[in-house]
Amino acid sequence: MTLNILFASHTDRWSAYEPHLRRALDGYGLSYSLSTKAPPEDVDYIVYAPNSDVQDFTPYTKCKAVLNLWAGVESVVNNETLTQPLCRMVDHGLTQGMVDWVTGHVMRHHLNVDLWITAQDGDWRAGLVPPLSSDRIVTILGMGALGSACASALKSIGFQVRGWSRRPKVMDTIDCYVGQDGLDAALSGAHMVVLLLPDTPQTNNVLNASTLNKLAQGAVVINPGRGPLIDDDALIAALDRDHLHHATLDVFRTEPLPKDHPFWSHPKITVTPHIASETRPSTAAQVIADNIYRCATGQKLLHLVDRTAGY
Ligand code: NAP
Repeated sequence: MTLNILFASHTDRWSAYEPHLRRALDGYGLSYSLSTKAPPEDVDYIVYAPNSDVQDFTPYTKCKAVLNLWAGVESVVNNETLTQPLCRMVDHGLTQGMVDWVTGHVMRHHLNVDLWITAQDGDWRAGLVPPLSSDRIVTILGMGALGSACASALKSIGFQVRGWSRRPKVMDTIDCYVGQDGLDAALSGAHMVVLLLPDTPQTNNVLNASTLNKLAQGAVVINPGRGPLIDDDALIAALDRDHLHHATLDVFRTEPLPKDHPFWSHPKITVTPHIASETRPSTAAQVIADNIYRCATGQKLLHLVDRTAGY
C-alpha cells in the first residue's frame, strides 16, 4: 500500500527537506508518495510546520499522525481541529546545535570574554583571572531533550549543574529539582540560569521579580527557550539595579523583536534572532521516516505530545 505523505511547511523548506526525506523513507523500503499538495482525504501523514497553510485538520480524515518539524508546539497544541496524534521534533542535529549555543554563551560570561574584547588599551590588567567552572552554579530550567543534553555538556566542562523539570529525574552528578520549592532551591545562589522550558500556561513568567531575586548577585540569564518564560519588566528592573550582570535572549514574546523594543538598546542585554538551534533537514528526515515506519508497522509513535500538559 502506498502511503500519502504531505509536506506542509513554509514553501522555502521543501527544497531543503525533499531529498533528505526521500533518502530516509527509501531507507525503510516504504512505498510512498511525498508532495506539497494532496487531496486531504487521501493523506496518511503530515510532515508539519506550524507556519504552514494547513491550519484546519478536519478534512484530513485518514491522517494517522502529524509530525512536527519544530521542537516547540505551543502554536499547534491547542488547535481544536487537530484530533490526530501530534509528534514533536527531537533531532540530534537540533540538540547538538543547542548544546553548542548554550555552551558558547555560558563560556562567554564565565570567562568574561566581553571584557577582554574591549580591554585592548595597553592597560595590563593582571589578576583578573576567571574562577574555575567548578566554582560556578548553572541552573537549567527544563531538563528535556535539549536541557538534559546542555546539562551534561556543562557538567563535563566542570560546572556545578542543577536542573528543574515537571517530573522527578535522576541524573548522575546533576542535582535535579521539581515543583515550586524545587524551583526556589534550583535558583538559589545560581550564577547562571538557562531556560529550556516549553511555552505553556504553567511556565509563563517562571522567571519573575521573585524568582530572579533567588539568583546570586551578578547572575546571568540565558534564554533560548521561549519569550513568555520571562517577565520582561522584572528582567529589566533586575538588570538596572545590578542584581543581574547580563541577559542573553534568543526568543521573545513578539518575534521578530520590534525595532523599538527596549531590549535592543539595553547595555546588559544581548539579543540573538531565534537562531540558537534549528531542526536540521538531514537528521530530522531520519526521525520523521522512522516515526512513519513505526506507525505503518503498528509500533508506538515516538515523541508524542501530551496535549493536556501542552508539550
Ligand atoms: P522537552 O524535551 O519537551 O523538555 C521540556 C522540559 O521542560 C522537560 O524537562 C519538562 O519536564 C520541563 N517542563 C515542562 N513544563 C514544566 C513545568 N510546568 N515545570 C517544570 N518543568 C517543566 O523539550 P525540548 O526538546 O528540550 O525543548 C525545550 C524548548 O526549547 C522547546 O519547547 C522550545 O520552546 C525551545 N527551543 C528553542 C529553540 C531555539 O532555537 N531558540 C530551538 C529548539 C527548541 P519533564 O521532563 O518532567 O517532562
